[in-house]
Amino acid sequence: PLRLTPRKATNQRTLFPAYSPRSASFAPSAYCAPRHFSTARQLRDLASHHSRHQAQDEVPRLAKKPLHLLSLADLIKHGRPPLSAEALLASARFTLSLLPIRLAHRIQALRNLPYIVVSNPNIRKIYNNYQHSLSTLLPWQGRTISNLDDEIRFTEVLAELVQTHTDTIPILARGFLECRKYISATEVTRFLDEHLRARIGTRLVAEQHIALHFSSTPHFDPGASPTPCPEHPNYIGVINTALRPATTIDTCGGFVADICELQYGVRPQWVINGSPDTTFAFVPMHLEYIVTELLKNAFRATVENGMSREPIAITIAPQPPDTIPHNGGASTESRLDPPNEERGVFGKDSIAPLDDNAPGVTIRIRDRGGGINPDVLPHIWGYSFTTFAEDDVPGGTGSNSGWSGGDDALGVISAASSGSSSIAGLGYGLPLSRAYAEYFGGGIAVQSLYGWGTDVYLRLKGIGKIE
Ligand code: ADP
Ligand code: MG
Repeated sequence: PLRLTPRKATNQRTLFPAYSPRSASFAPSAYCAPRHFSTARQLRDLASHHSRHQAQDEVPRLAKKPLHLLSLADLIKHGRPPLSAEALLASARFTLSLLPIRLAHRIQALRNLPYIVVSNPNIRKIYNNYQHSLSTLLPWQGRTISNLDDEIRFTEVLAELVQTHTDTIPILARGFLECRKYISATEVTRFLDEHLRARIGTRLVAEQHIALHFSSTPHFDPGASPTPCPEHPNYIGVINTALRPATTIDTCGGFVADICELQYGVRPQWVINGSPDTTFAFVPMHLEYIVTELLKNAFRATVENGMSREPIAITIAPQPPDTIPHNGGASTESRLDPPNEERGVFGKDSIAPLDDNAPGVTIRIRDRGGGINPDVLPHIWGYSFTTFAEDDVPGGTGSNSGWSGGDDALGVISAASSGSSSIAGLGYGLPLSRAYAEYFGGGIAVQSLYGWGTDVYLRLKGIGKIE
C-alpha cells in the first residue's frame, strides 16, 4: 500500500545538521541572530507580486550569461570577519552579481526537461521555488547596495532564498520517481548531477554572505544581537579554518546512533583512531552532511548484519600538501562510473581549490556490515538506488535491492521524506555525498569485502592557505 503522508520527523534536523539547535556549538555565529528577519515576509510578498512576470521574461537572457566559475578565493576575498562596512557591501554586491544568473541557469535546465516531467507536481514545486527566488532578486538588479540598510534587506532575501530550497532533495526524489516512465535513468542522473552540484554552489554563495553579515553586524551595532553570539575566531563566513573532523564524527555519530536506536533499538559504537587531532580548512556543513550519510550506511549495515557489538572503526589520516590527486585519488578502477570531469559536469560548477597544495585529510570508515553484494555494487552511486525497505525493519536482510521504484517505493520515500531523519531509503546518500566531496576536489571510494564489511575512503582537500 502507498503511504503518501510524510511520517512526522523524529528529529528536527534539516539537510545540514549545522542548523540544528543541538549542534549550535559548531554552527557559525551567522545563525545566532535572526533578529533582522522581521520584514522578510513583507519583502517577499512584495517582490513576488511585482516580479513574477518579469522573472519569466528574464530567464532566457540571464541563462545565456556564462556562469562565473566560483573560486574559494572569491569566498574569502572580503576578508576575515568582522568585515568593515565597505567590505560587507562589496560582499553583498558580489553575491547579487552571481545569484540571478545561477538561478536562471537552473530554471532553464528545468525547462529543458520533457514537459510531462516539469508538469509533475513535485518537480513543478521545485521549478516554482526557483522562479520565486529569482523574482525576489530581480528588483535588486540595476541598483547598488550602497548602505547598511540595503545590505540588511538584501541579506533577508538571501536567508529566505536558502530557506525556500532547504527541502529540495526529497521533493525532487519523489518527483523523479513518479516520472520514471517518462525519462530515462541516465537522463535523471545527468540532470541531478548537474543540478545538485549547482545547488551546492548557489547555497554556498548565499550562505557565505549571510554568515559574513551576522559575524560583522555586531561590529557596527553592538546592541544588534540580543543573545550574545559565541566567538568563532576560526570562521570566515561558513568556512572553518581549523575544522577538526574527529569532533564532527563524534557529533554526527551521536545523531546517527539516535536514529539507529529509534529504528532498530540498537546503538552501534564507533572508535576513532589515526590522528584524531588533525584540523584543516573546510566547510563544516559539507563535512557534516557527508559524514552523517556515510555513518548511516555503516551503522545500518552493521546492525542488519547482526554485528552491533563490533565498533565501526574510523581512521583519520592527515594528508600533507600535494598528496591528494584531483578527485580525491579515487582511482577510476574503484569508481563505478566515470569521474565527473568525464561526465562533463564537474568543471562546470565546482569550486577550484584556492591552492592546489592545500593540505587535506582522508577519513576511512570501516564497518563489519557484511559488505555489498556484487549484484548491488554497480548501482550504489545511482540516485534513488537503495536496498532499504521499511518492511525489512527490524532484522531485515536488505535483500529487496532496487531503484526505489517498486510498488512500495513511494511509501519508502515518504518515510524518508524528512531527508536525514531516517537511516536510509532515499538512495541519495552516496551520490550526493560524492558531489559534496568532489566540490572542492576530493572524492569518495567504496571498497567492499563481501561477506565481511565495507571500507569507505573519504578524501577531502582542504581549502588551502588563508591569510
Ligand atoms: P540509502 O542509504 O538511502 O539506501 P545510499 O546512496 O546511501 O542510499 O546507499 C545506496 C546503497 O548502497 C544502500 O542501500 C546499500 O545497499 C549500499 N551501501 C552503502 N554503504 C554500505 C555499507 N557501508 N555496507 C553495505 N551496503 C552499503
Ligand atoms: Mg544511505
